[in-house]
Amino acid sequence: MQQIIIIGSGPAGFTAAIYAARAGLEPLLFASSVEPGGELMNTTDVENFPGFPEGIQGPELMEKMQAQAERFGTKVAYDDVTALDLAGDVKRVTTADGTVTEARAVIFATGSAYRKLGLPDEDRLAGHGVSWCATCDGFFFKDKNIAVIGGGDSAMEEATFLTRFAKKVTVIHRREGLKASKIMQQRAFDNEKIEFVWNSTVSGISGDDSVTGLTLTDTVTGETSTLDIDGLFIAIGNDPRTQLIHGVLDLNSDGTVWVDGRTSKTSLPGVFAAGDVIDPSYRQAITAAGSGTAAALDAEHYLAALDDVAAPETVGAAAE
Ligand code: NAP
Repeated sequence: MQQIIIIGSGPAGFTAAIYAARAGLEPLLFASSVEPGGELMNTTDVENFPGFPEGIQGPELMEKMQAQAERFGTKVAYDDVTALDLAGDVKRVTTADGTVTEARAVIFATGSAYRKLGLPDEDRLAGHGVSWCATCDGFFFKDKNIAVIGGGDSAMEEATFLTRFAKKVTVIHRREGLKASKIMQQRAFDNEKIEFVWNSTVSGISGDDSVTGLTLTDTVTGETSTLDIDGLFIAIGNDPRTQLIHGVLDLNSDGTVWVDGRTSKTSLPGVFAAGDVIDPSYRQAITAAGSGTAAALDAEHYLAALDDVAAPETVGAAAE
């Protein structure tokens, strides 16, 4: 049986792994089979992770975190976890091929997934002009007109990155002020390829085989208008990835996993949660990493307490 299984391979998962491995707990970390490394794998320059004054590329930062975790004995399995049995003292983690792995403690760090607009044609045109990842798909929009939806840091980052390829990028935001940090806002305002459409939501996406345009609704007047575009990048935030633990762990009303105060302790003993899956507010790589640290330390203390309870019996049995 494993001491600790960590589910998730973003900054929270790998930081938890570094701490657990250095505590001699030989963690097994399940990274997804398709997209290991979490959200930073879809990011270019990471300029705000301490220790990299010149910035670092997101995928390179994740490679370094993984290498550091493996250096101390973390085993990484590129498997998708499909079911969890977490209620008892022995936790059981099932992967896509049906293999069940047992552990004494589990750290749940599955991150968050891109939010959708919820429009009828969004899924149909996904991959045909609709995208959630500029670094993945931006290259296909050379000299094209692109719209980016959202007013946060993600939208500014996507819009700025897309100007490397696009003829024009139109940022469409539902209010008149951006939510993004001042530095990201300014970078977008200073970029002559970026235009802004304020107080507008997307109420329709048109196109037969690929995106050709949008219907916009003015949030103040209610009037509708159309905008011709070749690509739509949706950057309206993320939702915690909790499908695996619905009905298993308690959730907050915002959908994040409930944890006890400032700890990583979930509603089940021996199960800890970290990173975006518990965080409705900050959602930074560095806060996720800090949260992964807390989870590893909480798990370590939990296992040590179990061993302390078991120890007197062991000593007694040996003496008999
Ligand atoms: P966010 O900060 O939650 O912003 C989401 C944006 O989308 C908001 O402007 C919101 O509008 C808008 N929005 C939400 N739902 C919408 C809908 N249904 N239709 C239209 N617009 C909608 O999300 P984020 O930009 O993904 O950022 C998440 C976190 O990651 C933040 O803490 C951010 O700082 C961080 N981040 C940091 C960096 C960086 O530092 N380099 C890069 C990316 C992300 P309202 O403003 O009206 O609410």
